[in-house]
Formats: sequence, structure tokens, C-alpha cells
Amino acid sequence: MATTVDARAETALARTRRARRIVRALGELHPDARIALHFSSPLELLVATVLSAQCTDKKVNEVTPGVFARYPTAAAYAAADRDELEAILRPTGFFRAKANSLMGIGAALVERFDGEVPGRLEALVTLPGVGRKTANVVLGHCFGIPGITVDTHVGRLSRRFGLTTETDPVRAESDLAALIERRDWTIASDRMIFHGRRVCHARRPACGACAIARMCPSFGTGPTEPAEAARLVRGDAEAAR
Ligand code: SF4
Repeated sequence: MATTVDARAETALARTRRARRIVRALGELHPDARIALHFSSPLELLVATVLSAQCTDKKVNEVTPGVFARYPTAAAYAAADRDELEAILRPTGFFRAKANSLMGIGAALVERFDGEVPGRLEALVTLPGVGRKTANVVLGHCFGIPGITVDTHVGRLSRRFGLTTETDPVRAESDLAALIERRDWTIASDRMIFHGRRVCHARRPACGACAIARMCPSFGTGPTEPAEAARLVRGDAEAAR
């Protein structure tokens, strides 16, 4: 199942078509691809995304029910007792910085946005600790505004797919945005994250068990022997860790 793709010799049109075929194929492969963080409002997703830095989604989902119950509004974060908030956030790691961000976000939302999470990229990135990645997660999943989220998985996979050579997330986002249809930006990110967690791991990707190997110029980065590769594929529970 060796790849026939030479990303360096590919025309721009061929790359665009291949990028869109990859997005479709990932959709067939991971029809359940969706954001793993639990939330029921833009504020909750914003908070969960901040907490997911350097932490698994599984751990964040264990902690957030208690956080959301204790701090139901932006004003509640703004008025939080720092020691108490830090203690609640401790299991997610980097809890001092995260408490700082959440208190700062709460204060900024109250002061400048009437306590509501704004549905615009330019406004979201003015909040403390909120970059384009977090802003696009919130816009894509709460406001229906397509956004490409270049996290570690999307960055790695888009380079392996030969859709970008950039390691800078903002530049990689720009390359992907030029290739993928706008309406698919959010779901393409979710699908790549799923594929990255389940199949195309940072170390030892399961190339020999990868259904999109024909479209991938990096086939062979991991084991190509099917039985060996199949053992590397992770199921839902392992992938969520
Ligand atoms: S697992 Fe291998 S073939 Fe599949 S996308 Fe990753 S690098 Fe390409």
C-alpha cells in the first residue's frame, strides 16, 4: 500500500484536491470525530480549552463539572478566591497559571463584554491566555464560525500529509485554510485530531494500518507491516488519555 504522493512535485491544484480528499476520507474513517471536551456554553468551552493546555481531555472532563458548578458566570471567575480556584484546578497541572488566566478572562469579559463570551476572533484573542487556537475552538464549536485549530496533532498531521511545512501554528493554519473548504475547517481539525490520537501518533504512527496511506507522502514513517501497525492503533479509551 505504498504511497504514490510526492508532495514536493505536486501542483497547487493537485494538493488542494488531495487535501479535500483526505478530509473526506478522515470523515469516513472517524465518523464520530468531535471535540472531546465536555461543555454546554461558550464560557464552559473557553474554560475547558484553557484547562486542556498540557493536560489530557479526559482529566479536564473529570475536573470541569466541579469548576462549572462553582463558577457559573464570568463574574464568578472574576471574583474567585485564588487559593480555592487553584486547589480545584490542581489536577490539570499548571494550576497557578490557569487560575490566573481564568480570573483574568472573567474580569475582561465582565469589563468589556457584559460578561458574555464574544463570537469574534479579534475580540477573543484579546482575552488573557487566549490565542488563535483557543479562539477557533470556541468559534467553531459554539458560534458555527469555521476555524482551523492547529494543536499538536493538526500541526503534525498536516506536515506529514505534506499540506504545510510550517511548524508555526499560525502559518500552518494559513496554509490549511488555503487548501480546505472554509465550511470544513472545524470538522477537518476535529478529524485530524482523532486520526492523530488513534492512528498517526507522534511516535510510531500506524502506517501499515492507516486507511489514508495512499494519500500520504509520509507513509513509512511508522511500521508498514499490517499486523505490527494494527497493534499501534488506539481505541477510544486509550486515545482519550
Ligand atoms: S499513519 Fe502513516 S500513512 Fe497514515 S497519515 Fe500518518 S504518516 Fe501518513
